Amino acid sequence: MIPNDFIQTLLSRIDIVDVIDRHVPLKKAGANFAACCPFHNEKSPSFTVSPTKQFYHCFGCGAHGTAIGFVMEYQGIGFIDAVKELASRAGMVVPESEGRHSEPENPGQTRLLIEVMARATAYYKEQLRHS
Ligand code: ZN
Repeated sequence: MIPNDFIQTLLSRIDIVDVIDRHVPLKKAGANFAACCPFHNEKSPSFTVSPTKQFYHCFGCGAHGTAIGFVMEYQGIGFIDAVKELASRAGMVVPESEGRHSEPENPGQTRLLIEVMARATAYYKEQLRHS
């Protein structure tokens, strides 16, 4: 798991225009940047990148996302790999929490399930006593 605040810091340090321009040459179009979409075939550019919102959006195929989303889609890699790649470009080290394989994904929910099971068991025991 990568902490969410690390993702936020990473996104604030990198510029989506920079990230995309390395792969897809962007042209300035008003407040945004535009290019022919790398995710579908087209002759006139409907792929736009907003430097203020740090989002890309394609009016042709609906592709949309952040710099991390772009790297994932364009390079066909997973979220963690995309974060690692962008972090290394930004000179940041991705923190990795320890023991992520032994930790349940949602400890709160697991505790709740155990409690529900315990209550059900107690209920059946009680019913057995009466029968
Ligand atoms: Zn597109």
